[in-house]
Amino acid sequence: MIWCLAKWQLDTSEANEKIYLVDISAGQIDYIQAILTHLRGINVSRTYCSSCHYPEKTCICKWVKPIEPPIEIIILQHGSEASHAKNTVKLLELGLNRITTLCGEEADNFQEIASECALSPEKYAVCFPSEQSTPIEESVLQWERGNASQTFEHVIFIDASWRKALKMWHLNPWLHQLKTWHFSEPPENRYRIRKTSKENSLSTLESVAYVLSLGWKVDCSNLLTLLNARQQYFPNR
Ligand SMILES: [Zn+2]
Repeated sequence: MIWCLAKWQLDTSEANEKIYLVDISAGQIDYIQAILTHLRGINVSRTYCSSCHYPEKTCICKWVKPIEPPIEIIILQHGSEASHAKNTVKLLELGLNRITTLCGEEADNFQEIASECALSPEKYAVCFPSEQSTPIEESVLQWERGNASQTFEHVIFIDASWRKALKMWHLNPWLHQLKTWHFSEPPENRYRIRKTSKENSLSTLESVAYVLSLGWKVDCSNLLTLLNARQQYFPNR
């Protein structure tokens, strides 16, 4: 919250009295609205949907049809992603019933989940391309052939720019103890509104949808519909 207000103080110079509130919750808007009105006499009218929390003009509620996956999706989200307007985790939170988002960067920020993983490592897998990762397609094939049992109940994803995700991977050695997957045959990247520095890398939503549909045969079309709905509000790049 302090960060938000500090940033706003910079943005609300006299030359630029318009304030854009991007991707924050309705509760935060009420709070900040009260402060701005009190301190600066600025009247900020609410223009955000109270359900999806996107601006009313870009409300996506009519496309929200949550699905119930058989496993829990855990997102380790870098702090700089949380406020990014084009981040896809908010869409996942609207479209999935079993999702937990944990914000942070280093191991201290993830102590609780790290302890749970240490207790039952066979129940957790991580999606992150690394030296130790194997193709998820191979694992699924082994399950389907009955050569390996499927024991996973939680799949962890890192939500950050590629560079920051790599940093998080190195700062969190507890992740290295878990089964780690990369994609050998990923679907085409549909999320064109955000450039990625790594070729063929998918948005977090697309990665989750791919894992759920490949490994657990979940129909993720509702998630991809949300992505398309959101995407229509951004110009193609
Ligand atoms: Zn809405």
